Amino acid sequence: MSVIVQKFGGTSVGSVEKIQHVANKIKQEVNRGNQLVIVVSAMGKSTDVLVEMAKQISPYPEPREMDMLLATGEQVTISLLAMALHEIGIKAISMTGWQAGIITEDVHTKARILEIKKEPILTQLGQGNVVIVAGFQGMTEQGGITTLGRGGSDTTAVALAAAVGAERCDIFTDVTGVYTADPRIVPLARQLTEISYDEMLELANLGAGVLHPRAVECAKNYQIPLTVRSTFEEIEGTWVKEEISMEEGLVVHGVAQEKDVTKITVVGMKNEIGTLSSLFKTLAEFHINVDIIINQSIQGHERTNISFSLHTEDVTRTLEILNQHKGHLQFEEILHEDGLSKVSIVGAGMISNPGVAAEMFSSLSASGIEIKMVSTSEIKVSCVVPQKDMVKAVQTLHTTFQLDKAEAVQQV
Ligand code: ADP
Ligand code: ASP
Ligand code: MG
Repeated sequence: MSVIVQKFGGTSVGSVEKIQHVANKIKQEVNRGNQLVIVVSAMGKSTDVLVEMAKQISPYPEPREMDMLLATGEQVTISLLAMALHEIGIKAISMTGWQAGIITEDVHTKARILEIKKEPILTQLGQGNVVIVAGFQGMTEQGGITTLGRGGSDTTAVALAAAVGAERCDIFTDVTGVYTADPRIVPLARQLTEISYDEMLELANLGAGVLHPRAVECAKNYQIPLTVRSTFEEIEGTWVKEEISMEEGLVVHGVAQEKDVTKITVVGMKNEIGTLSSLFKTLAEFHINVDIIINQSIQGHERTNISFSLHTEDVTRTLEILNQHKGHLQFEEILHEDGLSKVSIVGAGMISNPGVAAEMFSSLSASGIEIKMVSTSEIKVSCVVPQKDMVKAVQTLHTTFQLDKAEAVQQV
């Protein structure tokens, strides 16, 4: 008998009827003879509603209290799903993250899972129960309630799959699989049959919200095959796994985007050893996450300008911190540019194909899109562009790299 972990996201459990639909899907899987661990998210947009209420009370709520609040969302779903299963004659038990033995770091709102004490789940599976675990939450060694970061239920599912030695982990969601781009932004996006862990990890890190990046990281580390598939349509999903057949021989496999990016330039820092480290050490001390960094130093010049990008929500704090440390950082002024976004292309085929970045730049400039910053790795190229041009940029790149649906390519 194999153990399978299945995760159902917020939209999939967004109403009582949808929870009943999920219960029926679980029943079918039980009837195929599998043991099941089910992970669920909070119903619909209820996590957003909780965040909104907290923000009405405090602009910077205590992270501990945020976790206490947000962890309640998933607890509603686990109990309702257990009841729905009981009603159709399936033995099931719900468990919070802590009851399921999910131990995390002592960091609030974005804790990493350290360990899963799997015995409680194995005991319940052994007694013939479908085990329903609340996604996105865990407990510190000291007994504090933590959450794993937005979208973290995917990570709960994959981590549980690794802990109980599951045969695979199915991520059920509101799209039929992983697409060449977000199908809500690119109507011509195609569903992929399969994608490698590395490419999926890049896409997830670069903003493809269909999977939580740490879920992909964990799947790769423990070699857990993942499927991403629809809760509502009986369609074969996308496999995320180690080796894939490069069926189409395409260099680029996906396009992703991230909005609300700001570029900050620290003007006139001393052009000497240690300048970069003192600037970014200062930001790191305050847990500011920086993305692309450009140091415009020229040999022989006394001063240099350093630019970096970051999420717009961190800008006010970052400017405050930099100004507080002006004495020690010794810069002349700070410039910042809001209203930007990041568009990225990802594909393992890039390693052996020079000129991919050049093609990206020329395609964006041919569409009149200004490129503000660039960053590359072996399998991706990212460009920071004005947010007003983000959708156009993603669609342009999707067409340039031949990712549009076949019939559409012929029409072009
Ligand atoms: P869930 O609540 O099930 O976790 P999410 O909203 O987190 O669902 O993820 C599914 C969404 O991810 C889709 O509705 C889609 O808009 C978005 N998405 C972004 N990039 C992609 C992509 N490359 N392929 C498929 N979906 C994507
Ligand atoms: N409910 C959480 C969120 O909305 C976790 C998840 O759905 O994965 O971010
Ligand atoms: Mg999600």
